[in-house]
Amino acid sequence: MKSDQRTSTVYLLLLAILLVVVIATVVLSVIVLTRTNEQASQRASCDSVQTTATAATTTQNPSINVTDWRYRSIYHRHRIQVIVLHDTEVPTVEGTVDVLNQRNLSVHYIAGVDGTIYYLVDQTERAYHAGISSWGSHVGLNDASIGIEIVNTGVDIFPDVQVKAVAALCRKIIEKWNISPQDIVAHGDIAPSRKHDVSGWFNWTMFYAEVGLFPGLFVSNITTAQQQSILLSTSANSAVFDANVQNLQQRLSDYGYVSAIDVNGYFDTKTEFVVEAFNRHFCPEFFVKEGLNSSTGDYIPHPENRRWYGISEERLTYLLENTVRDLCAQC
Ligand SMILES: [Zn+2]
Repeated sequence: MKSDQRTSTVYLLLLAILLVVVIATVVLSVIVLTRTNEQASQRASCDSVQTTATAATTTQNPSINVTDWRYRSIYHRHRIQVIVLHDTEVPTVEGTVDVLNQRNLSVHYIAGVDGTIYYLVDQTERAYHAGISSWGSHVGLNDASIGIEIVNTGVDIFPDVQVKAVAALCRKIIEKWNISPQDIVAHGDIAPSRKHDVSGWFNWTMFYAEVGLFPGLFVSNITTAQQQSILLSTSANSAVFDANVQNLQQRLSDYGYVSAIDVNGYFDTKTEFVVEAFNRHFCPEFFVKEGLNSSTGDYIPHPENRRWYGISEERLTYLLENTVRDLCAQC
């Protein structure tokens, strides 16, 4: 009997030990699981913070704090200040577009001989038509102008319908951008030493009448003899200072040829080119229109176009007295 009791006691003891082991195992498992969950939770939390930070980087850019003070700025104006007229020296619109593209050039409008206007470059875009040029305070007229190519060989008359179409287009541009009358120029005006378009065949008298600018400009108040009298010429003596030449240079500069002419009192080559450009534009009565040399195909230069006539003086005086205003003053 005693032996049976001992055996039972041993069994109980073993059972107790087993129970303790099981309980300890369960407790340890719970502890381990709890810690694992806590760590996972912490990692998840960190990831969450990181995600938030990343989101903050991409979505919370520093906001641009713009205060509209444009009304505080007074001295500014839109970019488009000048209209530049060209002739194509190419007889067709299609040919003109091809030549422009081949030469990496462009123009806002082309006026066909039938008066159709082709719109190629948006007015607000920069077209490449002026090259090295200047007018008034502007240098490099591509930045500040709208260019219009007028289809013409350069040695032919411009049909009236074409001149009127160009005038109607210019009127719209002038009204839209408030362009001043003296800022409607020929390519030859803004680059006198290297360009001679639009040619002397262009009817500026009709053009200005159609646009409604410079009324009476081409009505002369002096006699024909006075108109024809040569006031200044390089043939006199270009090496001698002449106060009258200096005065003329200053007045031409004031009108817009400021960078193309030196106010030095000498009737030099630059002065000749500017005088020629002025006469081509404003003195159609005496400007010898361009012709072609039949053998070379080149323009025939006319030295008499580079003289300063009585009519030139009258026209310049008129222009200087009538261009200090802004078109909007007339609206
Ligand atoms: Zn041109």
